[in-house]
Amino acid sequence: MTEPKKKLNIFWFCIPAFGHTNPTIEVVRILTERGHRVRYYSFAPFRDKIEAAGAEFVPCDGFLPPLDEKGEQRLRRVSTTEMSVLSFETVGRMDESLARDVERFRPDLIVSDSACFWGKLTAEKFHLPMVCSTTTFAFNQSSSKYMHYSAAEMADMILGLPRMNRVLRKLRPLGYHVKSALDIVQNKNDTNTIVYTSERFQPCAETFDAEHYRFVGPSVKAAEPARAENARPLVYISLGTVINSHPEFYRSCIAALRDAEVAVLISCGQAFDARSLDPLPDNVRVEPTVDQMAVLARTDLFITHCGMNSASEGLYMGVPELLFPLTGEQQAVARRVQEMGAGRLLTKEAAADPAQLRAAVLELLSDTEVRAAAEDMRRDFLACAGPAGAADFIEQVGGG
Ligand code: UDP
Repeated sequence: MTEPKKKLNIFWFCIPAFGHTNPTIEVVRILTERGHRVRYYSFAPFRDKIEAAGAEFVPCDGFLPPLDEKGEQRLRRVSTTEMSVLSFETVGRMDESLARDVERFRPDLIVSDSACFWGKLTAEKFHLPMVCSTTTFAFNQSSSKYMHYSAAEMADMILGLPRMNRVLRKLRPLGYHVKSALDIVQNKNDTNTIVYTSERFQPCAETFDAEHYRFVGPSVKAAEPARAENARPLVYISLGTVINSHPEFYRSCIAALRDAEVAVLISCGQAFDARSLDPLPDNVRVEPTVDQMAVLARTDLFITHCGMNSASEGLYMGVPELLFPLTGEQQAVARRVQEMGAGRLLTKEAAADPAQLRAAVLELLSDTEVRAAAEDMRRDFLACAGPAGAADFIEQVGGG
């Protein structure tokens, strides 16, 4: 273990989302093991993980503004406007308490998730050094061309901008001087930024400033793959933790694979009653949630929604992927996995038709080229600096 020059006092901020929290946990564990103090501002569902990593958990649940039914619906559809407005309102609601904490604990630096505006804006207001923790691809003008927003997503963002700017203006008297919502949503090229992927997987990596951007690779704790022991290939299916309430998709998967020589594990989330999928054939198991890294160690094929974490975790374990993206951001990830040769796209039409879905699974299972490309991605990810590299960068920025 490296002994740091100076013990840092770190404020860490994240939004309430597993995909944004999970990659930070190993970094926090390493920092606290090195003797730094981490106060992690987060939400009740993440408390245990954060405390187990040695950080102090600071609950922020009470600061989230209440939502009406319409707002909740839009949030469930991952509306950028709704999330941004909510985030700006949260800044106002946390302002007093955070000012007290900054005064009392005097942090050396702030680490903030790229989508966590109260973290980013606190750093600006108090002129504190900041490291941005980015759990998606890093986006600038070049790499954002990878995003294929649907018409509805575009309309949401364009029509939402004036509303976002209105909420933002209300923050000015509190000392937050951001000109436009875009300035806080996007990172600048000189923002110190950790990205949890490799330079190879990041689109247009060469367009990011090498001084300020660290592509550290997926931040995971993983066992060695053990799929050689499988009696029959394991197909693991997950649509992640946010937009996962798609019983019709799980039904189609079950119909497609019920008579195939494969074992099937579906992680379906908590949003609907998994018993509605009963009766299940003998080769299919459905769970609301699983230890995904442990499952991926035994998985032969991963049907994924292409959340950045899930797709990366699959490749980290060398698993070929059948790609079923649902949002613009997930499409960017799916496109990149295809460019790496490590996965194939599952169209909406094929996903809804058990015969086509079955053919896609069986073809991919016997595709040695895709398997070799997925193993190549595993080697690429293993060669990255990983969470220890992220911790080194945070120490460097904080002068630790
Ligand atoms: N995950 C998990 N168990 C599950 C399903 C998901 O631990 O049953 C984890 C997964 O390992 C990943 C995160 O939840 O770290 C999902 O993040 P991702 O970016 O893939 O998708 P999101 O949920 O944000 O859409």
